[in-house]
Amino acid sequence: MERYITSDKIFFHLERLLKWRMKEEVFPVTVEIHPTNRCNNKCEYCQYEKDDSTLSPGQFSEIVEKLKRIDVKGIILSGGGEPTLNRHTPWFLEILHEKKIHSAVITNLNLFSDNLYESILRCADWVRVSMDTVDRNRYRELRGVNNLDEVLKNIRSIVKMKHALESSTTIGAQIVVTNRNIADILPVSQMASRLGVDYVQIRPVEVLPKGPLPYSSDEFDRIEEEIRKARELEAPSLTVIRSDKWDLIHPGNGEREHGFSFCHGYPFIGAVTATGDYYICCHKVERKDHRFFCGNLVTDSVESVMKNRARAIKSLDLDDCYLGCRGSNINRKLQGLLARKEHKDFL
Ligand code: SF4
Ligand code: SF4
Repeated sequence: MERYITSDKIFFHLERLLKWRMKEEVFPVTVEIHPTNRCNNKCEYCQYEKDDSTLSPGQFSEIVEKLKRIDVKGIILSGGGEPTLNRHTPWFLEILHEKKIHSAVITNLNLFSDNLYESILRCADWVRVSMDTVDRNRYRELRGVNNLDEVLKNIRSIVKMKHALESSTTIGAQIVVTNRNIADILPVSQMASRLGVDYVQIRPVEVLPKGPLPYSSDEFDRIEEEIRKARELEAPSLTVIRSDKWDLIHPGNGEREHGFSFCHGYPFIGAVTATGDYYICCHKVERKDHRFFCGNLVTDSVESVMKNRARAIKSLDLDDCYLGCRGSNINRKLQGLLARKEHKDFL
């Protein structure tokens, strides 16, 4: 599944990689932006604080202008809150497209809007829809709203529009598995197949290295079995992605560990909140950890914000970082590059 976020893509950015190796300043390749902190769902696993903060077109333009100046290549519109609730999101996508910055959207797709869907399909490389279940009552339990029918209808609409517009935007579905929707793994995957999306991703809730495990060993076994069945649905038109986070948290794989001893990848990624605050990564926003705040991209210069990252990262304690976090695959690759010095000329 080459098209989605994977670590090896770091090797497409050799200039930045070389600078990193020479210990020079590196600017991010990918940044997440939160268009709003408002949300129309109340997911039981959501860690983000909700409020009415919403980026205005002026603030968004200012942020994008600065990110373009440092040659950011891809921007993911995500939460924070639900990105489609910012009524300017279609315009944000158009602006990114105009500036030749790749874009993507992570959404619950509770909202229907022709205009929004068309902008996604014309401008974004990919869109991922959180589904979690195909059971109406469970959707309400897990996501706090009675909206499953709407979401399924909306996915059908966006897939239909994709074909009508001959769009190349990849459409995916996601299930975050809690111990309440294990039985939904297969039905969600079957539904994803019927809806005609390109992939379904199955991932666990976030887990800290020393935090409690959200599943019993019995539940782990059931999850693996359900994923195995879901993977049998794989076809040229549907990819079933088992998140590699499962391996990192599975009790059968020994002590839980990141597989790296530092966040080497922090210069390559970043997150901007709905007030323009820049953080080292989205998880530090999620965990409300202000030590990783580097400045505000609306009011501060991008140069000073980038410089502040080196100060912020000094507070890093990997025990506060989720296993399989946003930077984890990049970190493992970069740690490998640092470690392998002996016999380096023998490939
Ligand atoms: S849709 Fe996203 S932002 Fe909204 S409550 Fe759910 S996880 Fe949180
Ligand atoms: S959560 Fe991951 S990406 Fe964020 S600072 Fe920690 S190791 Fe880096």
